[in-house]
Amino acid sequence: MLAKESRPRVAVYGLGGTIAMTSDGSGGVVPALSAAQLVAAVPGLAETGVDIEVEDFRRLPGASLGLSDLTDLAVEIDKRLASGTVDGVVVTQGTDTIEETSYLLDLFHTAPQPVVLTGAMRNPTLAGADGPANLLAAVQTAAHPSARDLGVLVVLADEIHAAGRVRKTHATSVTTFRSPNGGPLGYVVEGTPRLLNHPTERTTLDLSNLGSGPRVALVTVALGDDGLLLDGLAERVDGAVIAAFGVGHVPKNLVPALEDLANRVPVVLASRTGAGAGLATTYGFPGSEQDLLGRGLIQAGFLDPYKARVLLWALLATGHERAAVSETFASASGHSPPDPSHPSEKMRKPTCAVTN
Ligand code: ASP
Repeated sequence: MLAKESRPRVAVYGLGGTIAMTSDGSGGVVPALSAAQLVAAVPGLAETGVDIEVEDFRRLPGASLGLSDLTDLAVEIDKRLASGTVDGVVVTQGTDTIEETSYLLDLFHTAPQPVVLTGAMRNPTLAGADGPANLLAAVQTAAHPSARDLGVLVVLADEIHAAGRVRKTHATSVTTFRSPNGGPLGYVVEGTPRLLNHPTERTTLDLSNLGSGPRVALVTVALGDDGLLLDGLAERVDGAVIAAFGVGHVPKNLVPALEDLANRVPVVLASRTGAGAGLATTYGFPGSEQDLLGRGLIQAGFLDPYKARVLLWALLATGHERAAVSETFASASGHSPPDPSHPSEKMRKPTCAVTN
């Protein structure tokens, strides 16, 4: 137990999700529990010496959260941390979208205090419900000085993951969250976060530049794809992410449509494989990564398609144009900057800076 004068204070924001679900009698569980009820159900939380404040921010399944729910939350967290009244923040939500929501919050999180997302795979009505243990570990992490300056973290099953790397990898397992590129940052051991790695580089954007939400499509390429989903796409979106085969490959018949799309809106080339980085200089056939990058697509590198879409959305939402989008993806993904002589680079100029 910590001394009274040094008691850390953590704000818990509830967004809903399985961790907050119970049966309402209509068949199946639905988000119903408040953040206060979640906190009250955690054995051992009082003994941690951490003071908790709760706020019900949304009460939705993870799948129904929208990008604006998360930018509203980013603004709220920013204010709360700037007020100096809490040492860290925990967000409870549906695990279905944690890999995207955590990265979006991470892009707008510039304060040193920890922001930790958690949830549950087994709802509170099931034997072995994992919500209470996950919430306890998340609070212990958010309250601990060693978790400062790491950006947004995801804590489940006593593992601490960086928002920029974490993925949901299993539909039902309680150990579904993995960081295939680099592994977890650390573990919660006997109630204390133990960090073994640190994020190498983080991209952060200025919340005050947030404008109206752009539309960014995610198109997954599949065997024998005839490009149906690309038809007329440029008229409907402000940007697109292509989840391509392997290191960034598409069927050759898709190349003209993708080149046309990339001449009109930023198009990011990501790998649908789930781990590893897309390449830039290895393959030379039509539809290869080299071919597509030469036609103006932007390499996502280590960012998976979901995170690449979140980054592209956030860049466009904060007023970045084509060249700044390319530069940011180059640093966020570990790839070198694009060729400035490419016609699509000349068309668009950056309007504001990105802090790395
Ligand atoms: N299965 C999900 C969860 O773990 C449902 C949701 O995301 O709301 O919370």
